[in-house]
Order: sequence, then C-alpha cells, then structure tokens
Amino acid sequence: VVTIDGIAALIQDVPDFPKPGVTFKDITPVLARPDAFQAVVDAMVASAPEGIDVVCGMEARGFIFGAPVALALGASFVPVRKSGKLPRDTVESTYDLEYGTQTLAVHTDAIRAGDRVLIVDDVLATGGTVAATADLVHRLGGSLVAVTVLMELAFLAPRERLEWRDVDLITSLI
Ligand code: IMP
Repeated sequence: VVTIDGIAALIQDVPDFPKPGVTFKDITPVLARPDAFQAVVDAMVASAPEGIDVVCGMEARGFIFGAPVALALGASFVPVRKSGKLPRDTVESTYDLEYGTQTLAVHTDAIRAGDRVLIVDDVLATGGTVAATADLVHRLGGSLVAVTVLMELAFLAPRERLEWRDVDLITSLI
C-alpha cells in the first residue's frame, strides 16, 4: 500500500523550470508507479461527494487524473481545454498569468443546468486555472460541489484567489 507520504516522496522538485526562479513539481514519477497512481485515483474518488454527474479535468495533467476518477464515479468526463482546441460551440474564460493571459474552453453542451460537478487537477498553484474552470461550470448552470487536486502549493495562497468561492470545497491530497 502506498501512503500519501510515499506519493509525496515520488514528486520531484525541478529547479528553474519552466524559467529561472521557479521550482516545478514533476508528478510524472507518480504515473510511472501503477500502485501510486492507483492510490491517488482512489483517494480522489474517496474524497468526492455523493452524486457527481460530471468530472472536469483541465488540459493537460487534469485529464490524466480526471478521466479515471470519472470512470470510478460513473460520471461523465469533460475536458477543459485551451482555447481553439475543441471543435464545437464553446464557452470560454480568460484569466491572468504572470505574463499575459490564458483562455480555457469547454463545449457548451458538456455540462447541463443542475449538474453536480467535480473539478480535478494535478497541482493547485495560484488558483487561476481552477477559478476559470469554476467560472465555466457556473456559466453553464452547473453546480460546483468539489475540487480535488494531488498537490497544493500553499505558499502561492491559491485559496485567497479562490476566496469568492467556497474554499471548503477544495481537497488537496498533499
Ligand atoms: P494555477 O492556475 O496557477 O493554479 O496553476 C495550476 C495549473 O498549472 C495546473 O493545471 C497545473 O497543471 C499547472 N502547474 C502549475 N505549477 C505546476 C507545477 O509545479 N507542477 C505541475 N503543474 C503545475
């Protein structure tokens, strides 16, 4: 059995990536260990409230964890993608990055009014990605009931950016 401490030990700090001064958390060693990957998915599934209709995973690592969580919950998986990648009608939400902006998109028919939605991603950093995804969920009439991430970078204070949301919805395994 892989413990949370064991999973945390697999995540590697990569200094100066993608640019000088930033330490990137590389979760790919977790994926390389099926027992660890399974333990993460199991913990995310266990943290989910009852009655999830839709799991949203954000490009790209949110797809990796979100898809197996959706299957385990018997929920729809909905990819939230960078603008211009989805082929049909979308709604979009733009947010600020350190330099420039990022736009996320979701198909307009992917979430229906009243759907209970779980957002899954690998790392919660500044919170901008989760906030933009929450915005998309709300604009389609979905009800955001939980956010689950593998790791939260608490020093970036993502919950302050998400203050206008119910931060109690957020579960971080690490
Ligand atoms: P945020 O929008 O600043 O919270 O950044 C979160 C998004 O960027 C997530 O989709 C992550 O996949 C990605 N991200 C930011 N920092 C890291 C990191 O250190 N490791 C892996 N992904 C990261």
